[in-house]
Amino acid sequence: MGKLDVAMLRYLTPEDFRVLTAVEMGMKNHELVPGSLVASIANLRHGGVHKLMKDLCKHRLLTYERGKQYDGYRLTNSGYDYLALKALTNRKVIASFGNQIGVGKESNIYTVADEDKNPLCLKLHRLGRTCFRNIKDKRDYHAHRHRASWLYLSRISATKEFAYMSALHARGFPVPRPVDCNRHCVVMELVTGGPLTHVSAVEDVEALYDELMALVVRLGNCGVIHGDFNEFNLMLDEAGRPVLIDFPQMVSTEHPNAELYFDRDVKCVREFFKKRFGYESTLFPRFTDLERDDRLDQEVACSGYKRTKGIEDDLMQEMGIGLAVSEDEADGDEYEDAEDEKTKDTEDELATLRQQVADSLQHDEPQLTENITKLSIDNK
Ligand code: ADP
Ligand code: MG
Repeated sequence: MGKLDVAMLRYLTPEDFRVLTAVEMGMKNHELVPGSLVASIANLRHGGVHKLMKDLCKHRLLTYERGKQYDGYRLTNSGYDYLALKALTNRKVIASFGNQIGVGKESNIYTVADEDKNPLCLKLHRLGRTCFRNIKDKRDYHAHRHRASWLYLSRISATKEFAYMSALHARGFPVPRPVDCNRHCVVMELVTGGPLTHVSAVEDVEALYDELMALVVRLGNCGVIHGDFNEFNLMLDEAGRPVLIDFPQMVSTEHPNAELYFDRDVKCVREFFKKRFGYESTLFPRFTDLERDDRLDQEVACSGYKRTKGIEDDLMQEMGIGLAVSEDEADGDEYEDAEDEKTKDTEDELATLRQQVADSLQHDEPQLTENITKLSIDNK
């Protein structure tokens, strides 16, 4: 999607919000959610819901599509955006919207402001456009997984980012202050200044080099590797101090490829300094230099940390699609149970979905950042 048409937020009624949430829940196990099911989940009068859905389609928050077996509704990118933004405004985390300030490979970045007009940064994660691409479209369920996956992947990415940012910020790392997270959106402090890639000269090149390398080592000693430590994900604030951003890809130093990721981060800094500032140093950290003094990876349940499941597994499970599936695995035949998808529309299931809608609507109230610790508690 292009620009955020936030004016629409004002026109979304609580019923619209409920219907969109019902479609979101229905999409957990339906590629297309039949109108009658949306009505049941939303627990609103049948006729009324159809009018609401029609209008939501007109505004492109939903689409109505023809499937092989039945027709139904699907949440669009914009629909998902509005759910998250509405939730964040309901919680009074954000009150107004500004301009788009960045387009990453997998995100859109906007300035927003809270009720007191303090500027904040909003990151919308956009994943799933390339993943699951190789899945053979041999069964509807695979197609469903394919088409719904962007929703889960984007949410996982945002949740991970918020968890890392919170854990790093709590330890005094130079990262934006995390404010809140909902679905695929992260709200954080707006960093003044700009990315290092826009900087052509600094006062003390050597000092900055040392500071960045010290940062890589300090992360490593906490048990984590950034994994994308480059001039696009390092910002220099107005005081010329580095601020690290962009965390969804972070891994544990116990990851099987940890050394490779660590060396790659170090190499990024060395090459950038050579290219941009003509600065080279024989001093640079090595993976074997690390002395672990913290367990940030364990706290956040990082990818690669021992055998604990990661955040992604928890969310995937909650979404009812089993453990996180990689692209290669997804091609297999391990989802035979999907055949009886239709029989799942039992009363129990409906009650669960209704409860999830109720929980979701209730959850979108003011929330403190320390809630994240709950998220990161891993499965004992
Ligand atoms: P991606 O994962 O898509 O690379 P990033 O988190 O790296 O997304 O953000 C993309 C760009 O948006 C950054 O290079 C930076 O210019 C800008 N940006 C991101 N976060 C902030 C922030 N907290 N404050 C100011 N600008 C930001
Ligand atoms: Mg980035």
